[in-house]
Formats: sequence, C-alpha cells, structure tokens
Amino acid sequence: MPRKQWESAFEQRREDILHDWETFLRFASIGTDPAHKAECEACARWLRDRLDHSGFESRVVATAGNPFVHALRPGNPDKPAILIYGHYDVQPVDPLEDWTTPPFEPTWRKDRLYARGAQDNKGQIFYTICAIESLIAAQKLDRTVIFIIEGEEEFGSDSLNQALDAWSDQIQAEALLVHDTGTVSSGAPTLIMGLRGILQFECTLQGATHDLHSGIHGGLAPNAAQAAAAICASLHDATGRVAIPGFYDGVIPPSDRERTLAAASPLSPETYRAETGTTPDGGQRDLPPYERVGFLPTLEINGLHSGYGGPGSKTIIPAQALIKLSARIVHGQDPATLIETVTQYLKEQAPPGISMQITQAHIGGPGLRFDPEAPLLADVQQALAAVKPDQPIVHRWEGASIPIVARLAEVSGATPLLTGFGHEDDRIHAPNESFSLDQFRNGFLYTALLLAQR
Ligand SMILES: [Zn+2]
Repeated sequence: MPRKQWESAFEQRREDILHDWETFLRFASIGTDPAHKAECEACARWLRDRLDHSGFESRVVATAGNPFVHALRPGNPDKPAILIYGHYDVQPVDPLEDWTTPPFEPTWRKDRLYARGAQDNKGQIFYTICAIESLIAAQKLDRTVIFIIEGEEEFGSDSLNQALDAWSDQIQAEALLVHDTGTVSSGAPTLIMGLRGILQFECTLQGATHDLHSGIHGGLAPNAAQAAAAICASLHDATGRVAIPGFYDGVIPPSDRERTLAAASPLSPETYRAETGTTPDGGQRDLPPYERVGFLPTLEINGLHSGYGGPGSKTIIPAQALIKLSARIVHGQDPATLIETVTQYLKEQAPPGISMQITQAHIGGPGLRFDPEAPLLADVQQALAAVKPDQPIVHRWEGASIPIVARLAEVSGATPLLTGFGHEDDRIHAPNESFSLDQFRNGFLYTALLLAQR
C-alpha cells in the first residue's frame, strides 16, 4: 500500500487514536519513584489489554521492579519475526510549577499534545502500536510481531535485563524496532547507525585521617585534592586523546562508506554553540566531530570533589577526594577488559601516603554499530524516504547509549533498527514535554510503510 492509503487509514481512526493516546498518558508511570509503582502496574495492564484487543497474546510479566509487557501475534512461520521494544515508564516531573498544564493531564495546544511521556516513549511506542493495528486491519502484516514494553528504561532497565535470558525463546526475531530517538534539528529523517556503550567509575582518595592545618603540615602531608587533580590531568594527552595504555584496544575505524554517510551531515560549530553555549573543542580536535562522537571511545570526568568550597578561606590540606568518571565505549571494545584497564591504571596513580579505593566500576553495556550494507537497512531507508520525500536521510552514529538495546539484540539475534520522530522542541525529560500530531503521524506512516508486506 502506498503512503496515501496509510494516511487515510490514520485519518479514519484519528479520533480514537488520539483519545487512547491521551488515556495512555494519564498514567503517572514515573518508573524510578516507588510511590508510583501502582500507576506503573496499571499502565502495564492497560497496554496488555490494548494489545490483547488488537489480536496479540499479551501478558504483564512481574519482576523485582516494575513489570514489563510481552505480547506476541503469530504470523507466517516461514518468515522471520519482528521484535519491537519500547518503554512505558516516564521521567519524574519536577519542577512541577514550570508546567503550563499538569503533566498527567494531556492537553492540546496548537497541534501539540503536552504531557509527560507525550514523546518519550509513550508517544513513539503508541504510534507504533496503532500502525501495527492498521496493518492487521488491512491484512498487510504476515510476520510474527513481538512487543517488549518495559517500565524501567529511564533508570537502567535492570529488571528486564535480568529477565531477558529466560525469555530468549519467545523473542527470537530478524529485526528489532526501537522508536525512541529523534530527528536532527532540520527535521530530516534520522537513522541511528550505532550507539556507544557506557562504563562508570567512582574512586576515593584518602590521605590523613582528617583535614590537616596547611601551615603545620604543609610540606609534610600528602594532599588528596592535589592527587585527584594530577590523576584527572593524566587521563588525556595534549591532543585530547585518552592517555591510558590499552584504552583504544578493539576500536575499528569507520569504513569509507561509513565516513561518506557520516560526513554528509556535518556538525555546524555555530549550531553547536547556539545549543550549548560553547564550541565543539573537546576530545581529539584533529579529528572530525562525527568520528569523535560516533566511532571513538571517550573518558569524561563527571565529578571531582575535594577540600573546601564554601565562602571565604579555610587553610587545610584535604584528607579526602572523590573522582567520578564515565567512559563511552564503541563496538569492538570488550567492556569487561576495559573496566579492568581503567581501574588498574587508576590504582597505579595513587601517590605515596594516599590510598585509593575504587568504589564503583559498572558496565552499562557494550557499543553497537550497524552494517550500512545490511538489506534490512535498505527497507528502513525506503520507508523513511517515503515519509519525507523532500529531505535526505541523515545517518547518525550516536554518541549516547541505550544499553538494553545491545542486550536485546544479543538475546533475540535481531538486527536493531533505530529511528524515531522526536525533536529538540519536544523537551523530553523537562517540564512541558510535548509531541506534535505531525511527528506522531510520521511515526505511524513510517511503521506502516516499513512493515507492510511487499
Ligand atoms: Zn527518556
């Protein structure tokens, strides 16, 4: 079915779709807040009933945390299945006073629907569900479709992560659809070609048992603040490259094809400055921005705390310091090896008289990188081009991480296809989150065009 027919399929159901989207948004499913657990469970049950009604065998799966929804509609057994991942949990809403209308009372202003989760991820998972329903009604869906919709994405997906191995048989698929991202600022359809993984570290430095007088002990006592500063300063060389031996092990440089696709949408330093207030001069400045963000690992100092920061002066030699670091790692790098490389390096840096403890070394997940020549990707490109024929598709190697996607891909054997119709204006995670009818409809059209049997 060409685009026009899916447009009219949407128009015919429009009122019902918008009504139910609002119902979905009324659940205050703030996943991270135990006070909202009942709302999360009610939201999961609503999704189960919705998918049941649409012809899926659905269930709410209890976990140690918030439940997830598993739904399956069997299709032609000779064709590989499609797995769709989304999340019903939303970010907390504070500061509440900054909301023009209450976060869980969805409100239309112009053609935008305002509510927490309007886009992230309720809006995007709901257009996906609606498109699947329209495909079923039009008898254009002959594949097995499986949904996994969880309730802990916004704070680490721990429960789903732990449950996944047991669900391996029920989620085998060829493609993994994830609609939880956005387009570039021009609104051009954006295909995510890779994600970085993440590691997190925390270490404490301890010198004396307590802060010491800087006069009496100056020249004698080792200074924890100075040690922390020296360690942080040693992490990168003058070119911005991480100086820890072995840190780049496993990195695979971009292919010619990847370079061409990535360079086709260059970062504008002016836009970057307008968005952030600074210039894109971090990292390895001699390399193009797309390579620094999409194809190379980073090690960032997230926090460095020591000594006195209050008003006036306090002449001490600080006894303690705390360093928090995170590394974004790329496909090809082994997270466990890299954790070891970094912690080993840190331990060796403690100067005499200062003891170091690594208090956290956490693997969020590995990096992912998708083959630009994969046949499935051509289907995605075709569907995106049909949604927005006037704009070229942006191929983006994303610097951020969605750790559960790597796990789902591994357990299901599916190729992740990441795209989405979010926009900076949607203000996800902030007060007055919204999603426009236009973005919602584009997501619906894309999903229908991608999955309609050809
Ligand atoms: Zn989010």
